[in-house]
Amino acid sequence: MDFKTKIREILDFPTPGVQFKDITTLLKDGEAYHQAIDELVKYASDKKVDAIVGPEARGFVIGAPLAYALGVGFIPVRKPGKLPAETVEVVYDLEYRQDRLSIHRDAIRPGSRILIADDLLATGGTVKATVDLIKQLNGQVVGTAFLIELLYLNGRDQLENIDIFSLIQY
Ligand code: 5GP
Repeated sequence: MDFKTKIREILDFPTPGVQFKDITTLLKDGEAYHQAIDELVKYASDKKVDAIVGPEARGFVIGAPLAYALGVGFIPVRKPGKLPAETVEVVYDLEYRQDRLSIHRDAIRPGSRILIADDLLATGGTVKATVDLIKQLNGQVVGTAFLIELLYLNGRDQLENIDIFSLIQY
């Protein structure tokens, strides 16, 4: 399947000059969504993954079906104040401000093999922050899986020595 044809591009969203990759057009197409997740399952299946970690909100839409297909757990990464039990946090830089992400302190068994899933790799800030959270809990990141990678933003540079899979590249 040509997955790229399922992605809608929206100019000037959320800010002028940005060409947003809208994945809702892929998600609402049952065959495309199913096949896309199957491709990520293929990538992940030989990695002996213990759990999938996905950052909110689109990381849930990709990470949860991947975890289900692999028969492993799903661990959410969320904005601070959303998770009910004790959390650890990470602060990371965006273009003009800082943001924070959190994870439950007891979410990851030390040494366990974690795969990060999200819809899109842009500058790599989100996935790098997610890696930092997993490292704080002594998890081992064995791979990262994305529907889309924006090659021109060099997000890979944030993920030295971490394996990266993306289904669609721009
Ligand atoms: P990064 O932190 O790599 O710069 O940005 C990636 C994060 O921002 C992902 O969690 C993703 O959901 C969101 N994101 C940034 N740009 C886009 C886009 O064009 N389309 C979609 N669907 N998500 C985006």
